[in-house]
Amino acid sequence: MRGGEWRLALSGSRVEIDLVKVEHNARELARLCRRAGVAPVGVTKACCGMPEVGRAMLAGGVEMLADSRLENLRRLRESGIGCELMLLRTTVPGRAGDVVELAEVSLNSAPATLEALSAAAQRFGRKHRVIIMVELGDLREGFLPEEVVPAVGRAADLPGLDIVGLGTNLGCLSGVVPTADSFRALARLADEITRKVGIEPSIISGGGTGCLAVLRHGKAPGRLNQLRMGEGVLLGTETVGRTRIPGLYHDAFRIVAEIIEVGRKPSVPPGDRGMRMRAIAALGEQDVAAGALTCELPGAELVGASSDHLVLDVTDCPKLPRVGEEVTFIPGYAALVRAMTSPYLAKVVVSGGLGQVRSWGCG
Ligand SMILES: *Cc1c(COP(=O)(O)O)cnc(C)c1O
Repeated sequence: MRGGEWRLALSGSRVEIDLVKVEHNARELARLCRRAGVAPVGVTKACCGMPEVGRAMLAGGVEMLADSRLENLRRLRESGIGCELMLLRTTVPGRAGDVVELAEVSLNSAPATLEALSAAAQRFGRKHRVIIMVELGDLREGFLPEEVVPAVGRAADLPGLDIVGLGTNLGCLSGVVPTADSFRALARLADEITRKVGIEPSIISGGGTGCLAVLRHGKAPGRLNQLRMGEGVLLGTETVGRTRIPGLYHDAFRIVAEIIEVGRKPSVPPGDRGMRMRAIAALGEQDVAAGALTCELPGAELVGASSDHLVLDVTDCPKLPRVGEEVTFIPGYAALVRAMTSPYLAKVVVSGGLGQVRSWGCG
C-alpha cells in the first residue's frame, strides 16, 4: 500500500496492531529477564522492523532492538530510534559496510564476512561489536563447538572488531528444546577462549523466546546474560512448545477481513456432511499463512484458503456473518510474518481505539 491507497485501509483487509499490548508483553518479559540478570533484546523481524512496534518494545524495557534484515534496521534507524541495533542474520561480505553503518553489534558465523566487517569498520573508523554464533543443536547458523576457539582466535586478530560474546539460537529450525546445558557449554567455551585467545567474551546471548524456559527461580544457567525475543513479545507465545506464556496478551495483532460471499455449498467429500453454510473472507495465502490463523467468529471453522479466498464453515455459528461484515483472526507466527510482509494488508495501529493508519508494507 502506497500513496493515496491508505484511505481504503480502515475498510479493507488489514492487520490491526495494539501497541499497548506489545508494550505490556515486552515489560513482563523484560522483568523476567532482568530478575535473572539477563538483558532483554526485542526482535522486530516478524514486523518488518516497524518502528512503532520497536518503540513499544523499548517503552516496555528491552535494552536493544534486533532484526534479521538490513532493510529493517535501516527503517528503524531512519525513524529516529536511537537505541543500539543488532543484526541477527549474518550477511554476505559485500554488505559489510551496511552492517557497520546500521548496527552496533551483529551475530556472525562466516569467516569471510568477519574479514569484510573488519575492513568496513576500519573504513568507517568505528569499532563493530561481534557475537560469534555457536551451533548447539538447532542445525541452523553457527560454528560447531570444536571450531569456535580457533575461529575466535582468527577473528580477534581482525582490527576494527570487538569480539564481545558467544551466542546460540535454539528452537527455531529443528525444534530442539533449549536447556541449561547449552548455556553451560557456551560459558565453558568462553572460558577456554579467555585462556587460549586472551580475550573475554563477556556476553552470552541466547534466543529465541523458547530460551526463557531455562530461566528457573529467577536464575540463568551458565553465564547467560542476554536473551533475544520476538515471538514472545509480539504474540505472547513461544515456538518450541507452541505454548502461550501466562500473563501476556495473545491478541496484540489481529487480522481483519471482509466477508465477500455467504451461501450454501455441498460439503467435501460430496454429501459427507450434507449442505453446509460457507462464508468466504477476502484474505488468502498471499496475505497470511491460513494454517496459522485462529478465527474469532464463534462457531466458525476454517476450511482452507487459496491465494485470495479464505473459506469458513459457518453452519454452526449462532449468528451468520453477512456480506460486507468483517471477521477477525488471531495470527500465529507464520501468519503474522506473512501479513506484515503483504503489501495488500494495511497495518493499522489501534491502541487506545485510535485507528491510526500506517500504510507501510514490506512490498
Ligand atoms: C528470530 C530470531 C530470534 C527471535 O526468535 P523468537 O522465537 O521470535 O523469539 C532470536 N535470535 C535470532 C538469531 C533469530 O533469528
